[in-house]
Amino acid sequence: TTFNSLGLSAPILKAIKEQGYNTPTPIQQKAIPVILEKKDILAGAQTGTGKTAGFTLPLLELLSREKPTKQKHKIRALILTPTRELAAQVGESVALYGKHLPFKSTVIFGGVKINPQISNLRKGTDIVIATPGRLLDHISQKTIDLREVEYLILDEADRMLDMGFINDIKKILNIIPNQRQTLLFSATYSDAIKKLSNQFLNAPKLIEV
Ligand code: AMP
Repeated sequence: TTFNSLGLSAPILKAIKEQGYNTPTPIQQKAIPVILEKKDILAGAQTGTGKTAGFTLPLLELLSREKPTKQKHKIRALILTPTRELAAQVGESVALYGKHLPFKSTVIFGGVKINPQISNLRKGTDIVIATPGRLLDHISQKTIDLREVEYLILDEADRMLDMGFINDIKKILNIIPNQRQTLLFSATYSDAIKKLSNQFLNAPKLIEV
């Protein structure tokens, strides 16, 4: 399998090439075509397997396929991560793989001032990468509009549960649109993950590597 055969378009293939990637990793080979079919997925993947590109590349592809609407930058994709380090890292990947596309992304996490995040959100953004706690602060202060979210990604979901974010995640999931595509990535497949999946994913395809 090559990146060219996975259904990704030229601006994304160009970014991949510039990154020096030759072959998609196993998780990328399995996840990318299923995500491009607009299916929910429940994927078992550790860090270091290329999982970030495994969801970022098809997400950018799907966003770029849909016709642009009059409102230029509205939040269409939300990526939740357990830690600020991971949020920052995923944010960098989104910017890197999307560098030839017109999307804007914003990273939101706690432990830093909220005002710069608010002004970034005001400027308009297509993709938000966030940790649950600070995202809820924005939601309660009404400084973020998640009513147009079409894609939700839960990255390292098992770690989010381990860190006690279950109620925060549920609150967030209950305010974003039900009609969406949801991608859940987790290194482990526990009962808690199964429960979360049953509650919030729609007939997910299981992806294991
Ligand atoms: P991740 O598991 O998403 O944290 O990715 C681990 C590392 O693998 C990152 O440094 C990526 O830049 C790199 N990577 C991801 N996909 C590929 C690929 N197809 N070929 C080579 N390196 C990759």
